Amino acid sequence: MGNADLVARGLKSVWHPCTQMKDHESLPLVPIKRGEGVWLEDFENNRYIDAVSSWWVNLFGHANPRINAAIVEQIEQLEHVILAGFTHEPVVRLSERLIEVTPPGLNKCFYADNGSSAVEAALKMSYHYWKNCGQPAKKNFVNLSNSYHGETLGALALGDVALYKETYHPLLMDVITAPSPDAYHREPGESEESYALRQFAEMEKILAERHEEICAVVVEPLIQCAGGMRMHHPVYHTKLREACDRYHVHLIADEIAVGFGRTGTMFALEQASITPDFMCLSKGLTAGYLPLSVVLTTDKVYDAFYDDYNTLKAFLHSHSYTGNPIGCAVALATLDIFRDDRVIESNRELSACMSESVAHLADHPNVGDIRQCGMTLAIEMVKDKTSKTPFPWQERRGVRVYQHALTRQALLRPLGNVVYFMPPYIITKDQIRHLAQVATEGIEIAVRD
Ligand code: PMP
Repeated sequence: MGNADLVARGLKSVWHPCTQMKDHESLPLVPIKRGEGVWLEDFENNRYIDAVSSWWVNLFGHANPRINAAIVEQIEQLEHVILAGFTHEPVVRLSERLIEVTPPGLNKCFYADNGSSAVEAALKMSYHYWKNCGQPAKKNFVNLSNSYHGETLGALALGDVALYKETYHPLLMDVITAPSPDAYHREPGESEESYALRQFAEMEKILAERHEEICAVVVEPLIQCAGGMRMHHPVYHTKLREACDRYHVHLIADEIAVGFGRTGTMFALEQASITPDFMCLSKGLTAGYLPLSVVLTTDKVYDAFYDDYNTLKAFLHSHSYTGNPIGCAVALATLDIFRDDRVIESNRELSACMSESVAHLADHPNVGDIRQCGMTLAIEMVKDKTSKTPFPWQERRGVRVYQHALTRQALLRPLGNVVYFMPPYIITKDQIRHLAQVATEGIEIAVRD
């Protein structure tokens, strides 16, 4: 099997995600034969550093021996069992460990098998909680502008990225949108903190006026990833927690992308010192190996569903692969690596290396912003630096960076005009410097007329 062979067959049979398939008339698919560490390798020995962690999921490299071993061990015991009426050791141990490592007060774990499904479960739970508590009028959700929470209809409705949402608008529930604290839009000289506080005023107003009809506010803490790796100050969430308590509204934290160390702490909301009512996790939960997600919630929420069957208060929601034992075993191995290797601490050096390696781009006339939050770094290409005028999306300048990177052993996959690194944590400093070099060349090529 060669590269060309597989690509030709693949184009006949596979409909790829998030892709205009016609693009592949000129932009070849990249066939991958094997992965090892940060490297992805094709059938002709070309290699690529996976700088985007294969859609933000991979934490400890491809074919990680410790995770591979955990899969082998689990598969010989139990591959899967129904989780209604039955239980198993990996799901119990994983739930105990997740309760231990997440912010205090999250004591119950409900499983699904991808990020969007976790968001859907959290939405339903929040609405159902208020209904069980005799407040069925609380049925609306508040989101932030430029947010992203997944592609299923409920999760898509909560998002605010027009590219993904607009087409399906007639199918989606209405949500109330508050302006994002996205620091990119702050005034010159204004601190990220004061901008976040200023943006919070509108959220406070929405909650004050409409809390009787609102079940929950849903946020992506610290980084709006799909929205272009836009970042904001944690104070927003500290204020939001206070306001949600005051107005009896749930706070749903979607840490699907930012959880497991991407922001520099294990979970992003640690930086705001708060506990949400619901926390959705996926992606890094299995270090990029298997589809698994979880919604963690409080005893208070759980207790509102706990009653005699005939009251019909139970959460009758399920997925076939809920709590899959192999997925749970991988998640346990992932948490072991975090603990044994002191990953969060050692990532600080990598994070510093990331910022040093791109510092020279700050003065580039087409770089509007370099921002970083822990292990995520983004460089925003602009047409005009002073006014931050973006390049028109139709010019697809990010694709030029992607194409260049492939010729230089790197998988960089810009979001529009935003080039970013969100690498696996086993990346070396030399590899980071290489990515920075490739990004610099790619930006140079991309901004030419
Ligand atoms: N929420 C956030 C913040 C995400 O980044 C994503 C995926 N990019 C999702 C939800 C949806 O997760 P999934 O793709 O697994 O459905």
